[in-house]
Amino acid sequence: VMPFHDGLIVHTQSHDYPIVITEQSATEQSATEHSSMAKQIMPYISGLQVLIVTNDTVAPLYLKALEDELAGQFVVKVCVLPDGEQYKNQASIDQIYDALMTEHFNRDVTLIALGGGVIGDMTGFAAASFMRGVNFIQIPTTLLSQVDSSVGGKTGINHPQGKNMIGAFWQPQMVLADMSTLKTLPARELSAGVAEIIKYALIMDEAFLTWLEANLPAMMALDLAVLGEAVKRCCQYKADVVAQDERESGVRALLNFGHTFGHVIETHEGYGNWLHGEAVAAGMVQAAELSQKIGWLTDDEVVRIKRVLELANLPITPPAIGVDTALNLMGHDKKVKHGQIRLILLKSIGDAVMTNEFDSQLLHEVLSKHSA
Ligand code: NAD
Ligand code: MG
Repeated sequence: VMPFHDGLIVHTQSHDYPIVITEQSATEQSATEHSSMAKQIMPYISGLQVLIVTNDTVAPLYLKALEDELAGQFVVKVCVLPDGEQYKNQASIDQIYDALMTEHFNRDVTLIALGGGVIGDMTGFAAASFMRGVNFIQIPTTLLSQVDSSVGGKTGINHPQGKNMIGAFWQPQMVLADMSTLKTLPARELSAGVAEIIKYALIMDEAFLTWLEANLPAMMALDLAVLGEAVKRCCQYKADVVAQDERESGVRALLNFGHTFGHVIETHEGYGNWLHGEAVAAGMVQAAELSQKIGWLTDDEVVRIKRVLELANLPITPPAIGVDTALNLMGHDKKVKHGQIRLILLKSIGDAVMTNEFDSQLLHEVLSKHSA
């Protein structure tokens, strides 16, 4: 069987880079060309020094094959961080700097992020800041990081008082999305990634939603070729948006569809109890319900959105949160301008707008629907 091998080029202000999508085994050190992670990324490593950054969950799964094979040609060091969003902080960045300094690595070093979005965001930020900027490569190993965080150049860490508050825009030299890594991903994490995939369909492309309705069962059953196709489409959507609006002053904000409602759920329930993608799924339903009350979406379209989320085993009902609590939490969201809540809503499936021109009573109705 010919392995799926595909990709796209992302155009940014600093440079163009490829996203390579394969379904070859991440653990195999095969003799044939283009068959291992190491062989795929080697052409994009310009110097002799490599620091692989990963965590203690991903390391036992995918580190050894990559490290061993790269060690044949490069000086390879590894920084294994503890797993978890709570470690996406300055202390972890300092551990990366310490590893770089201890090895006397210099501006020629390439950092390699091997892991999900947490590892990707931190490694990118360390690369952006070490010696005022060194090269890095992303090997995203969660579906969410393959379709979302590895594209677009946002890197960073959390501050004790706020998520993603410290960061930089910094583009990688390449992204390698190896679908075979998804075989070890917990099912809930897979679904959380699918939530962001469905988001792209809802805001950008009704035909892609139809494609998902037909192909989600295969994706959930880990058909790697179908997952690879979905990842490619989503990377292309995000790359197109980012090419138009790299620093999020306009159209890029549409990618936050479902996220203001989702943010309320995540904050209220405590981060980690609801995965980000799960909160976004329920949040997209609320945004769809408000779009329906405004007269944009039909009842049938709202039902269709709920059905596709359920195909991915995602929640479609938010937890009970009082209206005042929810509005208060929304007031702390980045998308609030001059006291008016601005939301991303759907004119129809595939057509999103950011607006504050809706009757606040309708938002009240949506929020009170599920509150105790
Ligand atoms: P994550 O990195 O925490 O990964 C989820 C879990 O899966 C972790 O426990 C991880 O160790 C584990 N894991 C990763 N790969 C695995 C594999 N192949 N097999 C088994 N387990 C594996 O979470 P995520 O959902 O990938 O990313 C979320 C982070 O991404 C957040 O910090 C968020 O802020 C960030 N993010 C950034 C952007 C951006 O544009 N930079 C966009 C979206 C999200
Ligand atoms: Mg998101």
